[in-house]
Amino acid sequence: MEQVVKDEIDRFMRGLIRRNPGQREFHQAVREVIESLMPFVLEHRKYYDAHILERLTEPDRVIIFRVCWEDDHGNIRTNRAWRVQFNNAIGPYKGGMRFHPTVTLSVLKFLGFEQCFKNALTGLPMGGAKGGANFNPKGKSDREVMRFCQSLMIELSRHIGEDTDIPAGDIGVGEREIGYMFGQYRRMENRFTGVLTGKGLAFGGSLVRKEATGYGAVYFMQNMLASRGEGLEGKTAVVSGAGNVAIYCTEKLIASGVKVLTLSDSDGFIFDPDGIDEEKLEWVKELKEVRRGRIREYVEKFPRAEFHAKKRPWSVPCDLAFPCATQNELDGADAQTLVANGLKALAEGANMPCRPEAIGEFRQARMLFGPGKAANAGGVAVSGLEQSQNSLRIAWSRDEVDSRLRHIMRGIHDTCVKWGREKDGHVDYEKGANIGGFIKVADAMLAYGVV
Ligand code: NDP
Repeated sequence: MEQVVKDEIDRFMRGLIRRNPGQREFHQAVREVIESLMPFVLEHRKYYDAHILERLTEPDRVIIFRVCWEDDHGNIRTNRAWRVQFNNAIGPYKGGMRFHPTVTLSVLKFLGFEQCFKNALTGLPMGGAKGGANFNPKGKSDREVMRFCQSLMIELSRHIGEDTDIPAGDIGVGEREIGYMFGQYRRMENRFTGVLTGKGLAFGGSLVRKEATGYGAVYFMQNMLASRGEGLEGKTAVVSGAGNVAIYCTEKLIASGVKVLTLSDSDGFIFDPDGIDEEKLEWVKELKEVRRGRIREYVEKFPRAEFHAKKRPWSVPCDLAFPCATQNELDGADAQTLVANGLKALAEGANMPCRPEAIGEFRQARMLFGPGKAANAGGVAVSGLEQSQNSLRIAWSRDEVDSRLRHIMRGIHDTCVKWGREKDGHVDYEKGANIGGFIKVADAMLAYGVV
């Protein structure tokens, strides 16, 4: 990297860290983007002179509020919730809500920032946002989750709307939570409107939304492999997580002839040497989506599998890896192990699951690396399609939505190739995704003048 670029990055990051002290995840996400954008911005002075990077890293607004609710024993409980409305230059704010005890403003700012690029890459008119609460749904009864969601929506409803901000799910927020939040919004507003996505099929949800992030990550992988003349059939894969993204990523991998060896949750991972087949995955769906159990129960049901407590699955040799749990779940040493074991390609199902050192290892190995903002954009893409269906008051068939999803993932892949191809022909998908997403948002911001 040229010295002048390095100096600009250092100057920019010093300012960002000074303005946002202690927000480590946000610093990490911005640095990752700025490192690939800065050479481009310095070459295209219109962005540099208009201070687009400074403006793009400052959210439009952050709403912070208290959520009080009563548990099943009559105790008053207090949580903190946020909505980070990052940038609406190309469309209404759009992004998920996360309920997890590790949620902080820094985590939501990193996610909201990434969301701006991801949404732009889909080609749909959606701005970037993220929200959530430091509420832990694990171990809570349905009634407690309902009371929490209803209480949260009393405040959130003032800040969202079908043309303003359309929240969706994320970690800890699935169809159940969306149902409770949407039900409360509908009751308060006395209007039935597509203000949330990820809704149940009975009340405006879209077919394939539940599957979209996981399926999309596999479609993205398929496109990356095809660029090297390879396919999915016959490969082995390691998947982390056992939630929405991991389950449907696994489902599509199995259907594509891939042997999936692992799944995980925060207690550890399971390794199934025979591969997780359709029948076993149905059992996992029931375990996670209905009984809300733990992945370690898998080995009681399928005794040839092993459970590795408090470990992540990256030591298992595989051709393909799909981190689908959470941020920073794969470090430099994990990446070295994966590469040494013959890894060919990795697609991030989760947001920022690979630490910067891990990405450095993959880059050095000239491996196919699909960054989250491209590889996991299928979820928000189908959320965009859910909004379209709600506005048109129609429901598309499964095939219609799935074929649109495939088409969008292909488009994102091609955008990454367009902006990420290097002199020797290797594609830096991360750089391609950052530049491709940036141009769209930045050009809209330039068109608006100084706002
Ligand atoms: P879920 O809540 O459905 O599942 C999350 C999974 O990750 C669970 O198995 C959970 O285990 C595990 N996990 C969560 N936090 C940790 C942690 N700190 N350490 C270890 N394991 C952890 O969430 P999703 O599947 O929806 O989301 C997973 C990732 O994908 C997130 O990064 C999210 O931002 C991203 N994503 C999701 C999209 C969507 O459409 N849902 C769209 C795009 C990105 P446990 O049950 O033990 O907590």
